[in-house]
Amino acid sequence: MTTQSAKKERILIVDDTPANIDVLGAILMQDYEISVAVNGPMALDIMESGLLPDLVLLDIMMPEMDGYEVARQLKSNEKTREIPVIFVTAKIEEEDEAFGFQMGAVDYIRKPVNSDVTLARIKSQLELKRYRDHLTDEIREKSHQVRTSAHALETERHKLDKTTRDLAGVQASALKNQVYFKELFMNSPHGIILVGPDNKIINTNKSFSDLVGYETDEIINKKTSGFSVADDLKDAHESLIQEALVHGSMSMETRCFHKQGYEIHVSALAYPVKINNRVQGVFVFYENISQRKQFENKLRHQAFHDALTGIPNRLLFSEQLDIAIQKQETLKDYRFAVLLIDLDRFKSVNDSLGHQAGDTLLKAITKRVQNHLRDGDTLARMGGDEFAVILSKVGDSARVEAIASRIREAAESKFTIDGNEVHISASIGIVLDTRSYTRADQLLRDADLAMYQAKDAGKARFKFFTPEMRKDLLRRMNVEKELRHALENEELSLFFQPIVRVADSRVNGVEALVRWQHPEKGLIPPDRFIPIAEETGLILPVGDWIISEACRTLRQLQSGYGDHLTMSINISIKQFLQNNFVADLINTVQAREIHPSTIKLEFTESLLMTHTDSAVEKLNTLKGHGFILVIDDFGTGYSSLSYLQQFPIDEIKIDRSFILSMETRRESKAIVTSILSLSKGLGLTTVAEGVETGGQLDSLAGLHCEFAQGYYFSKPCPVSDLTTKSTLDFSRS
Ligand code: C2E
Ligand code: CA
Ligand code: CA
Repeated sequence: MTTQSAKKERILIVDDTPANIDVLGAILMQDYEISVAVNGPMALDIMESGLLPDLVLLDIMMPEMDGYEVARQLKSNEKTREIPVIFVTAKIEEEDEAFGFQMGAVDYIRKPVNSDVTLARIKSQLELKRYRDHLTDEIREKSHQVRTSAHALETERHKLDKTTRDLAGVQASALKNQVYFKELFMNSPHGIILVGPDNKIINTNKSFSDLVGYETDEIINKKTSGFSVADDLKDAHESLIQEALVHGSMSMETRCFHKQGYEIHVSALAYPVKINNRVQGVFVFYENISQRKQFENKLRHQAFHDALTGIPNRLLFSEQLDIAIQKQETLKDYRFAVLLIDLDRFKSVNDSLGHQAGDTLLKAITKRVQNHLRDGDTLARMGGDEFAVILSKVGDSARVEAIASRIREAAESKFTIDGNEVHISASIGIVLDTRSYTRADQLLRDADLAMYQAKDAGKARFKFFTPEMRKDLLRRMNVEKELRHALENEELSLFFQPIVRVADSRVNGVEALVRWQHPEKGLIPPDRFIPIAEETGLILPVGDWIISEACRTLRQLQSGYGDHLTMSINISIKQFLQNNFVADLINTVQAREIHPSTIKLEFTESLLMTHTDSAVEKLNTLKGHGFILVIDDFGTGYSSLSYLQQFPIDEIKIDRSFILSMETRRESKAIVTSILSLSKGLGLTTVAEGVETGGQLDSLAGLHCEFAQGYYFSKPCPVSDLTTKSTLDFSRS
């Protein structure tokens, strides 16, 4: 086999003599594929067409282009250069042969051709070519590999270059970072420590040394909690570091001690240092927040203390009260009491001496009260002239009572303010049994209630809170609610009590006394609802109704018994102080065609206390219109008799407490006697109230008292009963 491949090798025969072609073809046909060209150009064309032969048998002597030229062209073409060319020629000179080889021939075959020689030569040439081709392929392959390797090498080298450059950069930046880091660590305004996982300090910076006063050498290898943390915060501080180790960054506000012993407030931020994801320690950044803390404390103090006296304010007091309540719940033996102190007459000091004097007084009273308290007690200013005390660790009511008395006395003993002698007093409400309370506001509410009871009972005293007080309050609240309905439902009515001329027992007039016919509770006396109506302001609509109802009745009575009959109407001070009181009253009497001189307006002595210009002016206006002005319950209040002169009063009613006892107590008779002579001296008429016996009437007659009123003549009753009473004589004297 000459070929290993299935494909036969191809041989191109170039010869212009057909007989030659036939001969060669016959020899080669079996083993090779034969193509033929009959001249040089044709041979080149075949090459050009791309059908390259593996070997060319080339005739030299051809007419158009000789074999040499064909060979030369083949050799000069890269595509065909490697194809072996064998000259086939008849006779050959030595120089021709040399020239042929020069032209690229690989062998000569002489004509006439010998088939074996031809085949052998062709075969060996083809073999050579194959070998050459193989080598060429191998070289090509090798050189390709080399080239590839070289390329890879080149790439690697580039990479290496780049890596080297990067490495240099990294090295440089690492160096830079190191410098930055050192700068940050050493010169940071924050105190920084680096703590190992064993909680021992590895390094610190200058700011930290400045902060705590210890040099780095003194601190290194110590535990953080060991030297600069306040005792009560050691655990918290260690846990800060542990927390940071476990959870990442942690921060807290805490305190450190300076080497010299004073305390520093710091905010500490800890976060773990990780290298290759392994925690190596913890950085703790400290910032001195002492100034901020100081400021905060100041603000806090301001928020919880009274600016004037410096003692706790209501806010702090409530907080302390809550604490006391909690303590009481947990400690079996703990007892405390709450005192609510309200100064009496403080307003008049403020009004007469000015606010500055008022402030001085408040400061002075604070000092005095403080003197009677112990450590652990709390004194607070609740606002205005109201103070409160928590008495801690009280044993029994006796001690509380003793302290309350001392506080009361402290308030009552005189103050000298800017050279002025000032006298005040204090009303104190006390909650002693605090065990049923769970909230500060409830406790204060009840202390307040007790304090109001103290005021109500005449001020300058203390009252212990009792559950009845609250019941009473609830009752009053209920009354208020029902009283609103009473007006709408016409449950109110007027009763009338005659006022009799002592000399002849003739009826001069009547006093209107209000009654409440409650649908369930029956008839309710005025004492049970008038004070509540006054407190709540309901007295205004109630009072309006009373005036109009009294006038309506008076018209009726006057029509029947004469225009001289008078109607006494009780006027609440609140009613009187209303702006439109006078105008409304005048409208009402005019509408009823009643002469004002038959209307007697009864005021209590408290009116004399409100000796304001506007009150006097109003009374003068009323008097100017002809109304009769009466002071009721005279002798019971603390009004000084001298006040009487300042008011345009026409009549006084001697309180029935004096009449009641005038026959049994000499003092009462003496008081009645002097009131009568006083009123005569001032040109006033006098009514004795509460006359129940003939003896009382006789005595009053003996003292020349002008009028009397009481059960002796008639109880208050509806107008219909009044006119049918046979004992009463309404007729004009
Ligand atoms: P007051 O103005 O001093 O009225 C006299 C009170 O004494 C009346 O009580 C009357 O019933 C009672 N009284 C009269 N004679 C006797 C007697 O001989 N013995 C006894 N023990 N008591 C006698 P009342 O009607 O319960 O009124 C009580 C108070 O309620 C009145 O005292 C007055 O301050 C007030 N009040 C009554 N009606 C009105 C009113 O319409 N308006 C106002 N603002 N207050 C009124
Ligand atoms: Ca009266
Ligand atoms: Ca009276």
